[in-house]
Amino acid sequence: MARNEEVDLVICQVSVRDPSGFEICTKMRADPVLHLIPVILMGDPVEALQVRAFECGGSDYIVQPLNFTLLAARVRAILKYRRAVQALRAAHAQLEDRVRQRTEELSRTNVKLQSEVVERRKAEDALREGGERMKKLIEHMDALYLYDSDGRVVMVNEAACEQLGYSREELLGLTLRDIVAEFNPQALGHVWAQVEPGRAVLLQDVYLRKDRSKFPVETRNGLLELGGRKLMLCIARDVTERHRQEAALRESEERYALAAKGANDGLWDWNLRAQEIYFSPRWKAMIGRTPDEIGTSPDEWFKRVHPEDLEALRAEIAAHLSGDSAHLEKEYRILHKDGTYRWMLSRGMAVVDSGKTPSRMVGSQTDITSRKAAELQVRHDAFYDILTGLPNRALFIDRVKQAMQRSARAAESRFGVVFLAINRFDVVNDSLGHKFGDRLLMDISHRLTQALRAGDTVARLGGAEFAILLEHTESNLSVEGEAARLQQELVRQFLIGSQEVFIQCSMGIVLNHPSYGHAEEMLRDADTAMRRAKELDKRCLVFQPGMHAKAVSVLQLEGDLRRALERQEFVLHYQPIVALDTGKLVGVEALIRWQKPGGKLIPPMEFIPLAEENRLIIPLSWWVLREACRQMNTWKRSGACNGLSYVNVNLSSKMFVQPNLVALVRKTIEETGLAPGSLKLELTESVLMEYGEAVSSVLQRLKDLQVHLVLDDFGTGYSSLSYLHRFPIDVLKIDRSFVSAMDKANSNTEIVRTIVSLAENLKMDSVAEGVETKEQQDLLKTLRCRHVQGFLYSKPVPADQLTLLLKEHPAWCQ
Ligand code: C2E
Ligand code: MG
Ligand code: MG
Repeated sequence: MARNEEVDLVICQVSVRDPSGFEICTKMRADPVLHLIPVILMGDPVEALQVRAFECGGSDYIVQPLNFTLLAARVRAILKYRRAVQALRAAHAQLEDRVRQRTEELSRTNVKLQSEVVERRKAEDALREGGERMKKLIEHMDALYLYDSDGRVVMVNEAACEQLGYSREELLGLTLRDIVAEFNPQALGHVWAQVEPGRAVLLQDVYLRKDRSKFPVETRNGLLELGGRKLMLCIARDVTERHRQEAALRESEERYALAAKGANDGLWDWNLRAQEIYFSPRWKAMIGRTPDEIGTSPDEWFKRVHPEDLEALRAEIAAHLSGDSAHLEKEYRILHKDGTYRWMLSRGMAVVDSGKTPSRMVGSQTDITSRKAAELQVRHDAFYDILTGLPNRALFIDRVKQAMQRSARAAESRFGVVFLAINRFDVVNDSLGHKFGDRLLMDISHRLTQALRAGDTVARLGGAEFAILLEHTESNLSVEGEAARLQQELVRQFLIGSQEVFIQCSMGIVLNHPSYGHAEEMLRDADTAMRRAKELDKRCLVFQPGMHAKAVSVLQLEGDLRRALERQEFVLHYQPIVALDTGKLVGVEALIRWQKPGGKLIPPMEFIPLAEENRLIIPLSWWVLREACRQMNTWKRSGACNGLSYVNVNLSSKMFVQPNLVALVRKTIEETGLAPGSLKLELTESVLMEYGEAVSSVLQRLKDLQVHLVLDDFGTGYSSLSYLHRFPIDVLKIDRSFVSAMDKANSNTEIVRTIVSLAENLKMDSVAEGVETKEQQDLLKTLRCRHVQGFLYSKPVPADQLTLLLKEHPAWCQ
């Protein structure tokens, strides 16, 4: 029972044993649950018992025998007290509980507060730091101006000072009037009226620096309230550079648009981020595509680029995008819809929006196919002869070089170089015309190409000169054999149109030798050998070192010739021209000789061709003409030979390029006092063929001077007989080759007969040259040739000897 908390009161008798009332009371007082339950002890009215009862915690002691009224009153009082205590205790516990709760709350709040404090401190620190940074930023960002409604500057940052060139102190004393060029107070009022909190007004202005220089700015103006004052915050950005760039861009865009329009180029615009390319319709049309046939993938471009060009194109683009090149410029081939490749030139430039990485690349595409074709042609022409299509000298030299390198590596690799010249090709040109000559050269080239072994090279060096590289020859003999075979090919007739032509050629051969350092040296020696062959009237000669000396002597000769002209080392010999019917001397032919200082005479064929090549022939000819006229006049005056009525002077075809030929001839005749009709000029057929109709009037004007015209060496050229009557020719001089080969019944006799009768029919005179025998003379007589000239009568002799001759042959003059 005693364990029940709900017990209100315990009454127990002290006299009860085990446990006694005292013991129960003591235990209850010690019990944490029961210690507050009131215990009334009952016992005898003994003072000690009563004291003990209170000592062991009894709430009251009631003396026995019991007075129940008193007991009831005491029980009621105790119970009332207990209830009051209980209520008090509950209130206390409640209070305690509230205190505890509050304490907990407080401590939680405290913890929160503490962390808030830390946070705040951190925030404050960050704010302070940020503020510093912000301050710096503000100082160095775009220029900031704070001005009031009167335009007075109240605050600026560092950038503003730098922008205008003022110190901060100076700037703070200024107004917008000092800063804005052409300041307009109304505009300022307008800004203040326009501006709303939280919104900026954008303005374009021109600012003035301290040094009064102007620059364009873009300003953002926003309202700011500081300490109850309304101020305008103005951020001013210098836009000089932007304006410049915009202008440049505008200009270049305009230029580009114009250029693109004008150049008919295709355009492309590559978005590098999206990897898409805009190809203009023209770009697509350039490769035969309609606009919808090509999309925006870069592959549309690259998949069509020629495989050999693709890598290089990509590399160029990459180089430009990485900044290694200022712009893209690349030529490449691209596949056209028709299946052919076209050459294009793409130019482009990366566009860098912000930062350093390009975001776009734009460019153009130009069709350069025809330029490329022309370049290829030029390159081809640089190495090939235009007329014949054969390799030219440059390519030939290159091939010889390669052969030399091969033979340097492998000693057994032998080769030879042949220099081939068509003899007297100028005669073909002169007599049949250059067109015909060109056709013949083409046919010769074709025949040589056909005849060559695979691997060998034939080149045209110019004119009628060819070079042949014979490779992998076993011996020197095989080179010569091969050259002879080619020569055989060329001597067969050529048929051009209806015209048959036979040609002869001279060849010089050079064989490879380690002593040759340059290809040109081999060609030079082959040329020397060819010239030597020509001189010796041989078809082919292999180069010998001694031939050099000969070639060098030609050079020497040229120098000597010039000096001889200055020193007047030339003399004229005269050869009689005799009338066949009367046997009388009627004229002489003046023939030049070069009398060297030692007295040695050089025949004209050894220096005239050279003089014709280097134009020394012109002064030389004038000397001959003057000297011959002078001499003829002397003879006439002296009366040494009555019959001698004219002098023949050979006139080189090169003289016809002289514009004042006729005038100079007249002058010479006049100055030397020669009687009219005493001069005959000998021309060759080549003059008529070379200059054609153009020479006709020159000849006529010469005839007007009473100069007679003789066609020398007649029959050796290719001239058409139909030509003859067109020119005012007086005499046909039958070439020595026909005369010397004449026999009673051979074809040469027939040729001479034909020429004589041709002359007769054309009312021309005829002279046979090279008459050496009586038989020839007689034969010519029967052929009715009118005049003769030859060793039978006299060799060409000096003027003074001719006088002696006349004395020896009085019949000539009677
Ligand atoms: P050409 O005008 O046909 O002269 C005739 C040549 O035949 C001369 O040779 C003469 O000596 C030679 N000749 C004459 N009769 C006979 C003969 O019976 N037998 C042989 N074997 N030869 C004979 P040359 O003097 O050596 O002259 C050769 C050529 O040089 C000339 O041929 C002429 O074309 C040219 N030539 C000579 N002198 C001059 C000149 O002053 N000016 C020009 N431009 N050429 C000249
Ligand atoms: Mg002559
Ligand atoms: Mg002649």
